[in-house]
Amino acid sequence: IERTLSIIKPNAVAKDAIGAILGRFEAAGLKIVAARMLHMSREQASAFYAIHQGKPFFDELVDFMISGPVMVQVLEGEDAVAKNREIMGATNPAQAAPGTIRADFADSFTENAAHGSDSPENAAVEIAFFFPEGVCP
Ligand code: ATP
Ligand code: MG
Repeated sequence: IERTLSIIKPNAVAKDAIGAILGRFEAAGLKIVAARMLHMSREQASAFYAIHQGKPFFDELVDFMISGPVMVQVLEGEDAVAKNREIMGATNPAQAAPGTIRADFADSFTENAAHGSDSPENAAVEIAFFFPEGVCP
């Protein structure tokens, strides 16, 4: 059993898609074992996406991620990291398979509705970033 960090990004929160997106995780067998809503500061968003610092899309990405509140959750299930990324669809929504979260709720490459950790190792780091007090076992 694996855990991953998921973020419903500001554009999806703004279009009232929180319920629909969480419902897709649950329908796919991913349990929501922690959740919080927050409006990130520029410092927080820059730190979360530090790996992308210096890339051409970095400033736009941070501006977008602090444009409104986000919903952050920990998903648990078998192959949670890969399963979540499959449900989200490709990073570029133009390439996201029909029926995926990004195909249905993205507005652009940057405003692509959801984030999901890309490895179990990064998932652990990202979960600790948003839930420093820990997550129920
Ligand atoms: P995420 O980390 O958000 O789950 P990802 O792992 O599929 O997405 P990354 O390569 O980690 O993609 O990029 C992080 C985010 O930066 C993307 O989700 C997207 O919002 C934005 N992004 C990435 N590449 C581009 C690009 N070429 N143009 C615009 N925005 C981009
Ligand atoms: Mg990523």
